[in-house]
Amino acid sequence: MALLQISEPGMSPEPHQRRLAVGIDLGTTNSLVATVRSSVPEVLPDEFGRPLLPSVVHYQPDGAVDVGHTAWECASRDPRNAIVSVKRFMGRGLGDARRFPTPYEFVEGPGMVRLRTVAGEKSPVEVSAEILKVLRLRAEAALDGELVGAVITVPAYFDDAQRQATKDAARLAGLSVLRLLNEPTAAAIAYGLDHGSEGLYAVYDLGGGTFDISILRLTRGVFEVIATGGDTMLGGDDFDRRLADWFMQANGLGELPPEDLRRLLKAARLAKEALTDHDETRIEARIGDAPYSTPVTAVQLREMTRDLLDRTLEAVRHAIRDAGVALAEIEGVVMVGGATRMPQVREAIGALLGKPPLIDLDPDEVVALGAAIQANLLAGNRSADEDWLLLDVIPLSLGLETMGGLVERIIPRNSTIPVARAQEFTTFKDGQTAMAIQVVQGERELVADCRSLARFELRGIPPMTAGAARIRVTFQVDADGLLSVTAREQSQGVEASVEVKPSYGLSDDEIARMLQESFGTAEVDMKARALREQQVEADRMLAATQGALEADGDLLDAGERALIESTMRALRAIAQQQDHLLIQAKLEDLARATEDFAARRMDRAVSQALSGRRLDDLG
Ligand code: ADP
Ligand code: MG
Repeated sequence: MALLQISEPGMSPEPHQRRLAVGIDLGTTNSLVATVRSSVPEVLPDEFGRPLLPSVVHYQPDGAVDVGHTAWECASRDPRNAIVSVKRFMGRGLGDARRFPTPYEFVEGPGMVRLRTVAGEKSPVEVSAEILKVLRLRAEAALDGELVGAVITVPAYFDDAQRQATKDAARLAGLSVLRLLNEPTAAAIAYGLDHGSEGLYAVYDLGGGTFDISILRLTRGVFEVIATGGDTMLGGDDFDRRLADWFMQANGLGELPPEDLRRLLKAARLAKEALTDHDETRIEARIGDAPYSTPVTAVQLREMTRDLLDRTLEAVRHAIRDAGVALAEIEGVVMVGGATRMPQVREAIGALLGKPPLIDLDPDEVVALGAAIQANLLAGNRSADEDWLLLDVIPLSLGLETMGGLVERIIPRNSTIPVARAQEFTTFKDGQTAMAIQVVQGERELVADCRSLARFELRGIPPMTAGAARIRVTFQVDADGLLSVTAREQSQGVEASVEVKPSYGLSDDEIARMLQESFGTAEVDMKARALREQQVEADRMLAATQGALEADGDLLDAGERALIESTMRALRAIAQQQDHLLIQAKLEDLARATEDFAARRMDRAVSQALSGRRLDDLG
């Protein structure tokens, strides 16, 4: 296929861009960031190799902010300023915040509650932003580049205020949100259930402080949350509390001062986690000045927490009833959240649903992994064989300007989005090192009749003969209708891109008018296009022949040269006139007149190459 040509620009270069996108699980207890590298989703660990970032932010009097493991260490020493489980307060007023027993001092703030700390009043959005910022920096360090955006997960039951608060936190953290994604949907995507047959799935998520059950229905690759349930005050922490209570009873301890209690709860958490893989362990904690070490078995833990587990099972049954489906219709159940590592949880769910739960992926990581897969798709990094959510269509064709003010359509109108299409273009002139890319939208053949969306340039194309360079231009429209256009020179890999919102500012009426115009003018447009194409070709041939005469004129005798020059004059005389058939005839004359000359130039080029010169020096 003949390559279309794009002219040299006279404008400033566009910064080099890569499309790095991440998925973030902004959890109540722990947060994670993941990305897709070489088609494999993976969680990005911190510099010590730890994948989980405790969702704890510690404010210090000098304004310093600590996030994660060190902040969590401070939680028992300085509970008021070490904010844990801030997710519970996102987009929530004072009344809601006070439902949870916490050591914080709440103040009513605009839109949502605020927390008073030594470093001043903080909104939950600011606190969450500190967590997101750490994850962003972690990702940028690991991926060595700037992120184009993130998919951030939220519980399926989050309302608009909670979702908006999450988006605001991301913006504050310097992250562009590609999309908020429901946590259960992310988990299902991580397991690739979206590629499977249609059906019903359950996602059982037992985290640190919350329990969520979601019933999803998959139809044509799209998940719909058809029921949610759970308990916002039930999670792994409650298992810790049971162990702590049991420990106090076993050791004859009365009510403990807050600091001792927090230490004991941490010890209980460690013991609970150890009992996932061991039959027996010890709860080791210092109470007052006395060190305690009390043995406890997995069987004992099961017994003292059986009712907690039963409560989750009851919620599962309830959600399935709400969804209006039968237990037996559930095709699979995905296990999410650190607390689902406990074998008794897996057994109970398997027994309830009559099939083994999905546990191949790390239950801590599964939500972040699914978010990363979604982020990768939304950033346009998908491979051609991946089908994706059918969401919307493009109202008007998208294309770009080629020589002569013509539109080359890349994505036709009514294509369903997200969509990606690529086409190769080439240079117009010998030695051309830059290319202007004008992105247009509309159905007309001429750029002047379409709407210009954006303009950018690709620079650093290695100088080559006109038509030799291969520039791959990719148009991608993501699920939110965001268009990005990338131009990449194939031999050296130089790249430039631009992003636009194609439908922005175009009302339905305008779209209708533009379509109407294009239908009425199709024939005129076709003729105009044919003429412009011939005019462009005439210019190109004249310039190329002139260049050849200057470089290799010595290959011709006087008569040959005179014939070529007169043919060129004849073409030049009519090149800008309106008769495309005449231009075509004169073009053919010139092609015939220069045939031998071209062959001789080729021979010379080959012998020069054989004598050791680099081919690309030969022009
Ligand atoms: P969230 O979604 O609330 O951020 P997570 O999914 O990170 O929470 O779950 C945290 C909970 O998982 C904590 O209660 C933690 O003790 C528990 N947990 C983590 N690992 C294990 C384990 N091996 N056995 C039992 N519980 C675990
Ligand atoms: Mg979670």
